[in-house]
Amino acid sequence: MAATGKKTQAPSLIYPPMTDHRFWQSTSLAAMTDTQWESLCDGCGKCCLNKLEDEDTGEIHYTRVACQLLDLKSCRCTDYDNRRSRVPDCLDLRELALDDFHWLPTTCAYRLLSEGKDLPDWHHLKTGRRGLVHKANCSIRGKAIHESDINPDDLEEHVIQWANP
Ligand code: SF4
Ligand code: SF4
Repeated sequence: MAATGKKTQAPSLIYPPMTDHRFWQSTSLAAMTDTQWESLCDGCGKCCLNKLEDEDTGEIHYTRVACQLLDLKSCRCTDYDNRRSRVPDCLDLRELALDDFHWLPTTCAYRLLSEGKDLPDWHHLKTGRRGLVHKANCSIRGKAIHESDINPDDLEEHVIQWANP
């Protein structure tokens, strides 16, 4: 398998105006305002995990090894404003084609909507409670390690299934 790049996460604690009730069901990803777009991110941190792609099948394998800039407790980037210069393979989701969203975890709001699905019941835009992503066991909290904790050649030993339940 070959190592691949990481993808970025959106800023936290952004909520669209209350008048945008369930906007994700009536507005396409492409047509969303920046506030609507960024409010979708549940802060799971999974997109900041290193991934491997099987060169023969194209299958994506998530590892538990997170980008060095990811705070493993808050599941947030510790230098979001400078992430692109500090981590060159950190990609901006909004610049990606929807066809590339299969790289995202199956629980990711952007992937779900790109596949015509609804947000999960625990999602903060439905419940108003951001912490539920952790209670639903859908974040990396308590499960990931940093790149500096392993030998880069050993990445395959850290492949996990929990990112894509
Ligand atoms: S995987 Fe999706 S929902 Fe989770 S942090 Fe990344 S962009 Fe946000
Ligand atoms: S630089 Fe930040 S947003 Fe990008 S992969 Fe690393 S932790 Fe995630």
